[in-house]
Amino acid sequence: MSDQTRFILNETDLPKAWYNILADSPVPPAPVLHPQTLEPVTPDFLSVLFPMELILQEISTERFIEIPEPVREIYKLYRPTPLVRARRLEQMLDTPAHIYFKNESVSPVGSHKPNTAIAQAYYNKAAGTKAMTTETGAGQWGAALSMACNFFGIDLEVYMVKVSYEQKPYRRIFMQTYGAQVFPSPSERTQYGRALLARDPNNRGSLGIAISEAVEAAATSGGTKKYSLGSVLNHVLLHQTVIGEEALKQMDLAGEYPDVVIGCVGGGSNFAGLAYPFLRQNLKDGQRTRLVAVEPTATPSLTKGVYTFDYGDTARMAPIVKMYTLGHTFMPAGIHAGGLRYHGMAPSLSALYDAGLIEAAAVPQVATFEAAVLFTRAEGILPAPESAHAVRVAIDEALEAKKRGEKRVILFNLSGHGHFDMAAYQSYLAGELQDYAYPAEAVAEAMKELPQVEMAAV
Ligand SMILES: *Cc1c(COP(=O)(O)O)cnc(C)c1O
Repeated sequence: MSDQTRFILNETDLPKAWYNILADSPVPPAPVLHPQTLEPVTPDFLSVLFPMELILQEISTERFIEIPEPVREIYKLYRPTPLVRARRLEQMLDTPAHIYFKNESVSPVGSHKPNTAIAQAYYNKAAGTKAMTTETGAGQWGAALSMACNFFGIDLEVYMVKVSYEQKPYRRIFMQTYGAQVFPSPSERTQYGRALLARDPNNRGSLGIAISEAVEAAATSGGTKKYSLGSVLNHVLLHQTVIGEEALKQMDLAGEYPDVVIGCVGGGSNFAGLAYPFLRQNLKDGQRTRLVAVEPTATPSLTKGVYTFDYGDTARMAPIVKMYTLGHTFMPAGIHAGGLRYHGMAPSLSALYDAGLIEAAAVPQVATFEAAVLFTRAEGILPAPESAHAVRVAIDEALEAKKRGEKRVILFNLSGHGHFDMAAYQSYLAGELQDYAYPAEAVAEAMKELPQVEMAAV
């Protein structure tokens, strides 16, 4: 076991391939369905929204997919990211556990999201795309794609959930600085946005609505704009596995192997990015690492949702996928982890959770910020409210190890820093944050709106 604190790889150790879980997953993926016909989608339908290379990655079962050299060159601006042993946190908790975290907050925009944004912009550029559309909640994804599109000379329009657009101007300005156009959603720019505003001019928006607008803007552009999604889809999770591939090498440098791997989940990409390479070692190499996906009690798609076919967006324009869902009509409570407010969960992750290969935990907001403040004071890094969910469970694991007097090796993903989330910390420090548990009745109610998929048809 190493006595180092930070485990740093060289540029030459940057992974050359992403890992595709579909090659090894014992649960076959459910078909993706067309939102109107409810029949399996054709590449033609998807090619309105995405370049062919990303569609092929979406359905690929090849185990490793080579990372193109121009993508690796840009990765080198911040990758490989450090793996850090949280020694001061261990001391503060007085635990025999060893706590490691993968620090994805060191990317230029402060989160893991550029890992896929750069890849998606690259494949779009290679296919001749001149303009793209996307949605963003609090702005983390929007900032990542703004940076990536700027690197590849692609125009970008971002539909930003209106409540964030108004209350969190800094990430909007960040996106604009990269040259992106940012619109509050619902907007007057799309038919769907106009319809919603006609019904309620004060509609504050949701991620599901913003996705609908970004999809409509691309789908009705006559082929001039492509759409991009920052989580959920197979190709997005694929691109994020660069995190776990590096972490495997770094745990090796540390001379340890994790008993438990932890990540927060919104759509599932940062968790899958770290966990899938370790899941491969479970499936193929006889390792027995527990993999824990952490969500807020306010958006409990895995722990309270239903595993079924549902629309990916509120307006029912995006494809239907089989996933753990709270229903596409879900309107999130105003919790501070903006990146964790999606109604569904990545299909591959949903299938693996359903098969019992992955665990899930839901944690309430106040305890999450308690953990975030403890982590800040111990390690000096102020985590994103999203990442703080992983910090909470990492600390709980360390405390349980202490109670049992056992050594436990814990690895979690610090998916981002919280420098743009000071208002959330301010509320916490002022004692104003409240817990919220999404009611099971609301899930049951939303299930009435599911697409009526004939199982025979799929
Ligand atoms: C977007 C975001 C998340 C949630 O998205 P996933 O796809 O589940 O990873 C988590 N943490 C940070 C910092 C984010 O920006």
